[in-house]
Amino acid sequence: MVPTVIQRSHGSRGLGVGEGSIKKEYGKERVGSSHPSLLARGGFEFIVGVMGWLRSMSFAIGVGVIPTASAVEDKPFLFSPLAEVPEWRLLDVYQGTIARKDFLQRCQRVFDPSGALAKYLEVDEESVRVYRDVAKTEPLYTLRWATKAKEVESQRAVSFCLPDPEKPLRGQVICLDPGHIGGDWADIEERTFRIGRDRPVVEGEINLKTCRLLESRLRQAGAKVVWTHDGFTPTTALRPNDLYPEAIEYLLQDFQRRRTPRYSMNGLIRWNAELLFYRSAEIQARARRVNEELRPDFTLCLHYNAAPWGSRGRPSLRSVNRLVLFSHGAYTASELVYDDHKFHLMRKLLENSTPEELDLGAEIGRQFQSRWGFPPENYGGSGYASPSGVSPYVWHRNLIANRLFRGPVIFIEGPYMNDRTTYAWIQAGEYEGTRMIGGRNRENIFKEFSDRVADGVIERFRTLPSRSTAFTNYSP
Ligand SMILES: [Zn+2]
Repeated sequence: MVPTVIQRSHGSRGLGVGEGSIKKEYGKERVGSSHPSLLARGGFEFIVGVMGWLRSMSFAIGVGVIPTASAVEDKPFLFSPLAEVPEWRLLDVYQGTIARKDFLQRCQRVFDPSGALAKYLEVDEESVRVYRDVAKTEPLYTLRWATKAKEVESQRAVSFCLPDPEKPLRGQVICLDPGHIGGDWADIEERTFRIGRDRPVVEGEINLKTCRLLESRLRQAGAKVVWTHDGFTPTTALRPNDLYPEAIEYLLQDFQRRRTPRYSMNGLIRWNAELLFYRSAEIQARARRVNEELRPDFTLCLHYNAAPWGSRGRPSLRSVNRLVLFSHGAYTASELVYDDHKFHLMRKLLENSTPEELDLGAEIGRQFQSRWGFPPENYGGSGYASPSGVSPYVWHRNLIANRLFRGPVIFIEGPYMNDRTTYAWIQAGEYEGTRMIGGRNRENIFKEFSDRVADGVIERFRTLPSRSTAFTNYSP
């Protein structure tokens, strides 16, 4: 994922990726916001024409809602791409469960460090009301504060079961979410690169390989392990070709913010349809599986990271390696314009998965530091991530997966695939024993990465009481 871009490996498909400009950040699904030039010159007329056609088509076949041109001019979209319309009634189970001071503290420390949400809230002695707009004319939901008695009751709900020393993860259902799809989809996901005649590095494949080793460690320690996907087949039934109407819709929305035209109109539409497929649709499908079928105690999303690339179109190696773990939070002002982000912020805040995410993150971070020693990322001043305070490796960030998956989610970003040492380590494959790589004797990278994560998770349950009763996985 993340702050960087992996170049498409097989030359140009009309839409190259360059200079970190596209930032196809995994989980940052807003199609337009981090996109380069969205509309080629003269493209507006073309798109308006296509929109007219789509509107008539969607009317004819009775599906899809495409906003009128005036709605696009007057008002931003209310939801992120493909997002389900929030069902605010799902928050009713949390009525009267949180005190005002706890709510405001969670906002300030975790979910809304920039203070952007406050513009949509009306807080008084009895309740908080969330509005769609900053003028506070369209109320979305009202949450009543807890009474004193209820507060005391909810504080008692933490369980203090002592862990089994042989099987510290006994009773835990852990979901593994290897990042990206890989296989035939690696190229359009832009999570692959190749240098010369070397073996291509395909992030979706090495994520999966690492998760398979992680599974066996977690199972040995007593956990039940479930998967969002275990192969190179998309979880979503949608494909890029199904998503052209939505791609055009979001291109049109971004018309007003267009920058220098660079790509052809057809290429842009295709590119956006692909983005909607492998990011929005795919992660939403995984979220449905997690929330409705798997219902784990927590989820581990595992990725390898990459440093920003040098020159456009020609991948080159760097000598830098950093690690990071994300806990949910740190919504930005531009995200909170959308109703679905406001809803998910409220739901995540009330679900209260943060303490578990921070316990897990802090322990995995300790393993990173003591066993690997690669420094943590520093997102200070980025505006999209805030420090957790529990470990320099753990930052709060709002990503699609940790927003949509219910329950605690730790998002793990491993070594930079385009760091010289890591690259050689990946190229060496899944060897037995140790080899000298980058001046150190190392086990294969998949084994070492999975061990860092497994040791962190096990350590968290070996040393701290289980918190499983604090999180209720409620699905309608
Ligand atoms: Zn990734």
